[in-house]
Amino acid sequence: MHQLSNDRSFATAGEVQTGNSGDTTALDLSRLITAAADAIAAHAEELTALDQAIGDGDHGLNMKRGFDAVRAEADVFAAKPMPDALKAIGTKLVMTVGGASGPLFGTLFMALGKEISVEPDRANLTAAFGKAIDAVAARGKSQVGQKTMLDVLRPVHDALAGGRTAAEIADIADAAAEATVPMKALRGRASFLGDRSIGHMDAGARSTALLVRTLAQIIGGKA
Ligand code: ADP
Ligand code: MG
Repeated sequence: MHQLSNDRSFATAGEVQTGNSGDTTALDLSRLITAAADAIAAHAEELTALDQAIGDGDHGLNMKRGFDAVRAEADVFAAKPMPDALKAIGTKLVMTVGGASGPLFGTLFMALGKEISVEPDRANLTAAFGKAIDAVAARGKSQVGQKTMLDVLRPVHDALAGGRTAAEIADIADAAAEATVPMKALRGRASFLGDRSIGHMDAGARSTALLVRTLAQIIGGKA
């Protein structure tokens, strides 16, 4: 079990499950991994369909393969301290997801592992997440507004920094994925389509929103 310090911004929002460990809340990494992999598996066809519209149709399979591989070793990851666990998950995602998204999601988790504390509170999580997003942007040579996963990651970070509740953050992630529909893709395969990429949701934005909702529900104690 990992400990998420029960800081005021989570606590006053009434969002954190109260564990039996005094002023800290038990964060079951194994449960988070399983839930994330389940969510990706349940939506693999939807992600594939989104990628078929403006990409090559492999995003659902890519993500399912990667998160299934992480789930298969959930107990191994969960036994590590949080920073090491996240770095190992990132490495596994790089090795198994493939495509453009594999190195990008891998970078996200590896960079998060580099920045996060052993017992992160909301402030540390927010700062670490911000730096991890910067690492993704550097790796992808991309920025917000280009119709990618960054168009969900940044608003989620801003919501986290702004003290939003877990439920609000999940809704913000969904809205941010939806907001990629009218965008023109400027990075990734969809950018090859130019204006024809307009009118479809970005697959990586959708998978990111799915992961955010799943993790937020558990961390927020609503699952
Ligand atoms: P591929 O494009 O190689 O087939 P995937 O289909 O698995 O890989 O992933 C596509 C997703 O990756 C896109 O929907 C987008 O969100 C994300 N993506 C692709 N290129 C970039 C980039 N340069 N920066 C950020 N995200 C990117
Ligand atoms: Mg693809």
